[in-house]
Amino acid sequence: MVDFNTRSSDEINDNSDNPLSSIFSQDNDSRFMLEAIKEALAAAEEDEVPIGAVIVYKGKVIARAHNQRETLNDPTAHAEMIALTQAAEHLQSWRLTGCTMYVTLEPCPMCAGALVNARVDRLVYGPADAKAGACESLFNIVQDPRLNHRLEVVRDFMSEPCRALLQDFFANKRKQKKASN
Ligand SMILES: [Zn+2]
Repeated sequence: MVDFNTRSSDEINDNSDNPLSSIFSQDNDSRFMLEAIKEALAAAEEDEVPIGAVIVYKGKVIARAHNQRETLNDPTAHAEMIALTQAAEHLQSWRLTGCTMYVTLEPCPMCAGALVNARVDRLVYGPADAKAGACESLFNIVQDPRLNHRLEVVRDFMSEPCRALLQDFFANKRKQKKASN
């Protein structure tokens, strides 16, 4: 079982001398992760695998997206990729310096690579993805010293609701499949 409270506050505390700032930043992280979870819910309503992402710049959400692979028939239409494009459009720059991404599942190799290419400062995500994760599970692309940019990463943040959404979605899929057989 993941104890995200202790773990994430320790990680956020790393760069901080002020004991209050970790409380504030964790509070903000929870608020923004909740926005990402709302996006994941929107994906489930569209019968898409429920993964959501938001990008925050200077304390404001500048991009919000959910997985739309089926809707768009696009293998690159992951929540993170769509959010990165929106944020770049918003800032009128491909360089997303100063941005934090919140996403409800550990990003895959494509999205992790895009986060590095976009120079995003910080990544906060929910559960690890043992099958496709590229930020700890299979690779750690976002913190590879051979690449020219590395992100600060908060892992296993609010994992329980993120994981529950995915589990419910796939349980329903299996039920539907059984019923149609
Ligand atoms: Zn991805």
